[in-house]
Amino acid sequence: MFSVYYESSSYPLEQIHLEALQNYSGTLDGSMLDIYTLPCMNTDTLTFYSAGTEATRIEKQEAIADYPAAQKFLSVCGIEYDGGEIAENKYNCSRCEKCVRTMTNFYAINKLDNFAEVFDVQDYKANFAKRLGRWMGICKKHYIHDLMPRLRQNNIKIPFGARVYALLFWRPYSFLKKKLRNSRFVRRLYYKFNIDRKIHGYRSSVSEAYKDLM
Ligand SMILES: [Zn+2]
Repeated sequence: MFSVYYESSSYPLEQIHLEALQNYSGTLDGSMLDIYTLPCMNTDTLTFYSAGTEATRIEKQEAIADYPAAQKFLSVCGIEYDGGEIAENKYNCSRCEKCVRTMTNFYAINKLDNFAEVFDVQDYKANFAKRLGRWMGICKKHYIHDLMPRLRQNNIKIPFGARVYALLFWRPYSFLKKKLRNSRFVRRLYYKFNIDRKIHGYRSSVSEAYKDLM
């Protein structure tokens, strides 16, 4: 049915090196190795590529920002939730780390309004300081380095509240989360009692939208 599979790269080429892999947030992030591991899955008739290593995340977002299909179907959400409770009829919860990161990048390049169909843009704008603070507080350094020049270029000021949220809430939260998730005991409890679903709910909106395919 297809002969080439483009797996979107997580990192631009210049950020891919073994030292970063070892130190990456204290975890071993396999996507750092995609350029080496993906070809191992090649067959005579199917080739895998790590696509987009020439671009940073924000550059990738710039590339798709005016693409109608992306505006209608972009799905980046990292949690499962009941779409009815958080962001009705949207593909993305608009609150989790991945959503906030993606929305902030679009906001920084003045393209967030293009994605009102898949994100709760109104909610993001109304809570900009909180959302940006979350992003700044938990995000990895290379994403921040990518974002800040774009905010400056487009004269978007970082609200003081964002720095307060980042420093007083999200940094400590992030630190604690990393410590707890390294504990096998805590992880076992977390999944045994379905705490993820209790916090975030279940992402029924997407399974409903794609029910014919699943
Ligand atoms: Zn989300």
